[in-house]
Parts: sequence; C-alpha cells; structure tokens
Amino acid sequence: MRIVLDESKCSGLGMCEAEAPDLFEVQDDGSLRVLDDRPPEDQYEVARAACDACPTEALSIVEDDR
Ligand code: SF4
Repeated sequence: MRIVLDESKCSGLGMCEAEAPDLFEVQDDGSLRVLDDRPPEDQYEVARAACDACPTEALSIVEDDR
C-alpha cells in the first residue's frame, strides 16, 4: 500500500491526522506531512479510515502489495 497526497486539494484540516496520528502530521504552516507513505500492514485499516475521512479527497491509496 502506498498513500498518495494531492497537496493541491489538501486544506490542512487534520481529519486524517485525527484518524491516523502515526501516519499524518499537520505542520504549523497548515501543510500536511505524510509521516509514512508506505505504512506497515497493521496500519492499513487506519490509513484507509484516514483517506475516507478526508473531506477534500486529497488522499488516495494505491494498492501495490508493498
Ligand atoms: S484530512 Fe484531507 S484536507 Fe485534511 S489535512 Fe488530511 S489530507 Fe489534508
């Protein structure tokens, strides 16, 4: 799995961070940092929840079996 962020769509609201604080961190300037764009398998569920929670559809998941 790979997490892809479209920065042009991200509004820095932090819903993804609320769902998956180990994977996402909103910076002081409001931009989002993806802490781990290739999360371990035990984080897949929260990664998907975080992508679903994003109100601007800035996050997507690529399933590449890694
Ligand atoms: S939930 Fe979406 S818009 Fe909000 S910080 Fe995360 S990626 Fe950006």
